[in-house]
Amino acid sequence: MMRQYLAIKAEHPEVLLFYRMGDFYELFFDDAKKASQLLDISLTARGSSQGEPIPMAGVPYHSVEGYLAKLVQRGESAAICEQIGDPATSKGPVERKVVRIITPGTITDEALLQERRENLLAAVFELRGHYGYATLDLASGRFMVNELESDEALAAELQRTSPVELLYPEQFGPMHLLEQQKGLRRRPEWEFELGTARQLLNQQFGTRDLTGFGVEQAERALCAAGCLMQYVRDTQRTALPHIRSLIKQQNNQHIVLDAATRRNLELTQNLAGGLENTLASVLDGCATAMGSRQLGRWLHQPLRQPERLNARLEMVSAIKTSGLYVDLAEQLKPVGDLERVLARLALRSARPRDLTRLRSALQQLPQLKDLLAELDTPHAANLARRLGEFPQQVDLLERAIIDNPPVIIRDGGVLAEGYNAELDELRALSRGATDYLEELEAREKARTGIATLKVGYNRVHGYFIEVSRAQSALVPHDYIRRQTLKNAERFIIAELKAHEDKVLGSQSAALTLEKRLWEELFDLLLPVLPELQECSEACAALDVLQNLAERAETLNYCRPQLVAQSGIHIDGGRHPVVEQVLKEPFIANPVHLSPERRMLIVTGPNMGGKSTYMRQTALIALLAHIGSFVPAEQAVLGPIDRIFTRIGASDDLASGRSTFMVEMTETANILNNATTNSLVLMDEIGRGTSTYDGLSLAWAAAEQLANKLQALTLFATHYFELTQLPELLDGVHNVHLDAIEHGDSIAFMHAVQEGPASRSYGLQVAALAGVPVEVVRSARQRLALLEANEQGQRQDLTAMPQGQLPLLPEPHPVVESLSAIDPDSLTPRQALDLLYQLKQQL
Ligand code: ADP
Repeated sequence: MMRQYLAIKAEHPEVLLFYRMGDFYELFFDDAKKASQLLDISLTARGSSQGEPIPMAGVPYHSVEGYLAKLVQRGESAAICEQIGDPATSKGPVERKVVRIITPGTITDEALLQERRENLLAAVFELRGHYGYATLDLASGRFMVNELESDEALAAELQRTSPVELLYPEQFGPMHLLEQQKGLRRRPEWEFELGTARQLLNQQFGTRDLTGFGVEQAERALCAAGCLMQYVRDTQRTALPHIRSLIKQQNNQHIVLDAATRRNLELTQNLAGGLENTLASVLDGCATAMGSRQLGRWLHQPLRQPERLNARLEMVSAIKTSGLYVDLAEQLKPVGDLERVLARLALRSARPRDLTRLRSALQQLPQLKDLLAELDTPHAANLARRLGEFPQQVDLLERAIIDNPPVIIRDGGVLAEGYNAELDELRALSRGATDYLEELEAREKARTGIATLKVGYNRVHGYFIEVSRAQSALVPHDYIRRQTLKNAERFIIAELKAHEDKVLGSQSAALTLEKRLWEELFDLLLPVLPELQECSEACAALDVLQNLAERAETLNYCRPQLVAQSGIHIDGGRHPVVEQVLKEPFIANPVHLSPERRMLIVTGPNMGGKSTYMRQTALIALLAHIGSFVPAEQAVLGPIDRIFTRIGASDDLASGRSTFMVEMTETANILNNATTNSLVLMDEIGRGTSTYDGLSLAWAAAEQLANKLQALTLFATHYFELTQLPELLDGVHNVHLDAIEHGDSIAFMHAVQEGPASRSYGLQVAALAGVPVEVVRSARQRLALLEANEQGQRQDLTAMPQGQLPLLPEPHPVVESLSAIDPDSLTPRQALDLLYQLKQQL
């Protein structure tokens, strides 16, 4: 047996091998040690190898799912090795085979998946600094590829998709980009080979070439997709009919969000990594889990096509005004997670309850269509068409499966009475529910003349003929005694024994037949898999739309207007998440950005609401671009190609970058990529370095954004000097958030007003935060001193030529001498002397 184990293990060196032995899955050697730690199961020993006991750990087969769930959550993979031979007939160890490999990115079992989150497997490929990237959601069959031109774009894509498992080639160069990824799997180079990729993909889709998917030219993407396909086939070891196409992402159809922006805006995950207080947590009340996942995808990929957005908005508006979201949600609930049910159907791993769920989903379609008909918008008609009709499948499932089937097919009892005549007959026979026994009883009574004779059955002894003690002497010779009771004797006769064998045989025959019929059900349903997948997509989209309508009504959102002129005009805007968490009322604020008013310098005290104001602007813009209503009284938005944020200080300690380095990397990305249609949020840039450095950088960055890039920018700063910019540059304006001093304390107004803030209230905020009174008092004295000093020295910023910074100290003498020389007029000898001289001066 150990020899067999080791041979199988050698084929799966990198995953934990679950080796089936009777009612347990056992792990041996290092696998056992690792599993006992990861799963908190006890480590024992069995037999010995080279004089040492063999470490062993095991889990009962019926509870294996729970353990597997734990493993994949930790990024581990497992190979499940089953007994496939018959123990009764085999010599030596039963034949065993790995039947499936469970990896974090390829799970489809309900027990292993998180309900409302996508579970993506990804592969990345690099060639000359450009990337191919492929993702697959095996639990839905959604297979996407993308090509990315830069490291930033790849980082953003990794952040957007956050795969649970990522395949990369052995020779992958820029490993630092993958450092933060979970479930990294190194794959051999040849798995990324282009020719093989084409062949595998064509095989999968049943196509001759890949032109139809628009990916023929995207060779890097194909290499990644090929490796991914290979991996899924290796792990699943079954057909994958639900993966029917490859979708190439069109990057210009979406608003680009870089990795930092996705994080900063806390779309589906907050900065601490949790799920609470995110945009999704406020916005997601979807009736189905697949709706929630769809909403998550929309939030991470805002659209840039006004026609598509307007179609969604019109639909949300129609559902909202008609109040139909109540009924729609009600009717969508029974549809459940159709998407994942279909994936399991395709993989032939669906369980009885998956098919009853499919049944209830399909039963809902007529009602859903009736509701859609009431809406009378083109999008509603389109969705109704995509829902399709499945009367035959509904009929099949209604006839085939009982109302509440058991969890698994193993012991039968899933298929309904009346579905198959042969099955009914075998079952009737196996229950002994025929007239035969009554007839036998009557016949034997007559033959023996014993009036008390009756035919019975018990589980231990099987069928018997019972005769009372008093009359037992009268039984004929062919009666064989089986059991003696206090008042009766029990006998068996050949004829009854034959009947008993038939009954027992019919039980196993019924089970075999039922399993065959069950498999046949898959064959009957799979031909309409593509239509069913379309239906499930339409249900998910409808769910998101009804949910957005309900949210719009409940949270008092308005329909945004998308216009062609560049700019952002929001009246009475609110922060969708902060307004939900606050106990006090949220103060709504306007924002107006246009080509003439491109940059707002936002000042005000700490805690005044600057960050909130800036983020709410981005979130409103983003919501409008998924087709949602927005938290505002009115919102008119021009085209937006990218949203950039440089917000807050987040030390990227894990990758060894300091706060300041992170800040500058993000700033560089903005300054290199922003356009006139980009929305840029800059919060407190320049904080992580000395005052002069920081101020200079903030100043120069603002200037570049306003003058050269002309992006729509909100620029919050604590450098008061920057409030002078509007006097120097076109299109720059000041706004501020105010506070009122109240004795030693302050009250924040949270209302945005035109003009610069008058002061920063840093000491008051410190006092509010509980900094000891004596420290605040001492700081106040120091401040008074500094201010008095500065009064004397302060130069008028507006008098300085543009771009030059006022606060720099007198230049160093070395700098002055350097600026005085003319290198072309120096001899080499003079130059060398000068160098010594300068060095001395220093
Ligand atoms: P800043 O960036 O100026 O330091 P924040 O934007 O972080 O300030 O806001 C601080 C707190 O003030 C928020 O957590 C929120 O509780 C409150 N706040 C901000 N804006 C508003 C508003 N418009 N209405 C009500 N409360 C607000």
